[in-house]
Formats: sequence, C-alpha cells, structure tokens
Amino acid sequence: MTMGYRRAVVEAGKKMLHSGLTMETWGNISVRGRDRIYITPSGMPYDDLTEEDVAVVGLEGRVLEGRRQPSTETPLHVAVYNARPDVGAVLHTHPIYSTVFSCMGEDIPLFIDEAAQALGDVVRTAGYALPGSPELARNCVAALGRRANACLLKSHGAVCVGKDLSACFRTAAVLEMTAHVLQLIRSMSGTFHPISDENIAAMQEFVKTRYGH
Ligand SMILES: [Zn+2]
Repeated sequence: MTMGYRRAVVEAGKKMLHSGLTMETWGNISVRGRDRIYITPSGMPYDDLTEEDVAVVGLEGRVLEGRRQPSTETPLHVAVYNARPDVGAVLHTHPIYSTVFSCMGEDIPLFIDEAAQALGDVVRTAGYALPGSPELARNCVAALGRRANACLLKSHGAVCVGKDLSACFRTAAVLEMTAHVLQLIRSMSGTFHPISDENIAAMQEFVKTRYGH
C-alpha cells in the first residue's frame, strides 16, 4: 500500500459517506497493517476525520494507539481478520437495497455476472445480534464463511471484506446493485436464474488470472 494505513481509513470514510453507502456517522472501516488494525473512531463525522483520529487495535482487540475510542463494531472487525487471513480490509455500510434484504433476512444469490465475479459466494444474512456485541461478530464470521466477500447483518446493513479497501468498495457497489436489481425483479413479479456453479468458478478463475493489467 503506497498510502499510509491511517490515510487510507480517512479517505475511505469520506468516500463511503459521499457515495451513499451510509448516513451521518454510521458504518465503520478498517485495514489490517501487519499485526494491527487501523479503524475509524466511534461516532465521529467522516468529513471531520484526520489521521490522528484513527484508532489502532491489536488482533485480540486491545487498543494500542490513538486519542479516540475505536468503532463500537471493533469486535466484528477483529473477528473477521482472525477468521480470514486473506482479508486486509473491512467495510461496514448501511446502503438502502442491501439493508432491505438484511431486514427480510434473505440471502442474495449470484444471478448477475458481476456478482459472481465480485461477491465470491452467496451473500448470506447473519443472525440478529445487538450492534457491537461479540455475538454479532460471531454471526458475521459464520455468514461470511471461507469464500464470501460480503454478508448482511440482520435488520442492520452490510459487511464487505477484501484484500484492500478498493476491493471492499467494489464489492459494496456490486452488492448494492445486485440487491437493487433483485428488488426490481420482485416488484415486476419476475423470475431469475442463479448462475451455475460451473460458470461462477469459470468467472472467478478468469478474474483471478486474466482480467485487468
Ligand atoms: Zn452498522
């Protein structure tokens, strides 16, 4: 990462707010830097955040540095990093259409090509638990499983994970578009067909090995 971890968290906060993925001070963002986690502080407006406001916690959740309290969802971020060594960043958002499906407790299947490429697996809804609780952290890890890049939190919002924050934002955009399309299909009493496991595997292989530069 060319940008410092603190800078990356501050920039991502503004991007999350201004791309409509959350409102006010909701949502939270973290990146993994070696043996520590850089995370947004609790309840601060994203437009006011500076690098000094970013909290630093260890992989067991203990505060190591910073003048601010870390996000109330720190236990969830810590649990995801411990469960998934492939994850370098976590983005927790409250976008409209993803939240609709989180409220209904429904999984979002992979029925669009972008979703098959970006989401990694069916997007499952984690069972309800209070925000910030260890139970919510456990439910989130279970819903993500080994492969998914996103899950929903029941009656709450979405969690996107990836190798870095750019990957998380891409996943968040594809998830929200997929949820929006699913809502439109439902509103038109339409049907859809999930993409076959074989084609999902082929697209994921293509993205991994041949896509881009
Ligand atoms: Zn939240």
